[in-house]
Amino acid sequence: MEKRELIYEGKAKKLYTTDDPDLLIQYFKDDATAFNAKKRGTIEDKGVINNRMSEIFFGLLEREGVRSHFVERLSDRDMLVKRLEIVPVETVVRNIVAGSLAKRLGLEEGGDLPRPIVEYYYKSDPLDDPLIIEDHIYAFGYATEAELAKIRSMVLEVNAVLRRFLDARGILLVDAKFEFGRHKGEILLGDEICPDTCRFWDKVTREKLDKDRFRRDLGNVEGAYHEMLTRVSQ
Ligand code: C5P
Repeated sequence: MEKRELIYEGKAKKLYTTDDPDLLIQYFKDDATAFNAKKRGTIEDKGVINNRMSEIFFGLLEREGVRSHFVERLSDRDMLVKRLEIVPVETVVRNIVAGSLAKRLGLEEGGDLPRPIVEYYYKSDPLDDPLIIEDHIYAFGYATEAELAKIRSMVLEVNAVLRRFLDARGILLVDAKFEFGRHKGEILLGDEICPDTCRFWDKVTREKLDKDRFRRDLGNVEGAYHEMLTRVSQ
């Protein structure tokens, strides 16, 4: 499958059309941004690692019955995906207090949550992806009630599957962001699943093995991404 026209370039990925109108090629870049692109850099081989790791996670989820846009990995940095009409909502699931939840509610990072929390953010760079509630999603037509119910149940299922898989490899899934889209009338999981979009902590040492190493200048960013790929490849 060949790349045709570049139709989208985001912070970490590019999307190309193919000869098949239902399929796109998702190209993974090494560019890293944080705080809505106020901080920029590159993480060597990040694109290769995120492509491979997303393939592993989408494959795992498919075997567990979770439908996604993933078709196949084509090369180091290219993934063939189904074309989605993206729902403009980022869905975050949290198992442990961290990041913006800690900041917003004045909580210390690291506390176990009694049950997973699902949050919705409006996908808007100029607005810095604000936290929204379900009524905003219905009132502004971002998704229907039936679609959001599907998204919520899929996110909780994805969270449960990933937590189990990662726990067996000594990793805690602290939180994660997912995106969804419509394809031929069906809601599919889209985007990527990797250390850019999830917080991964070592279960024993609680060492951060994700993009927080870049966001917070913790050093050994590349090492953490490689370590995560090694763990999920086991
Ligand atoms: O920053 P915050 O704590 O809200 O992030 C929650 C989770 O969502 C983290 O795993 C983070 O990596 C991910 N996230 C993301 N893209 C964003 C915002 C958050 O992948 N724009």
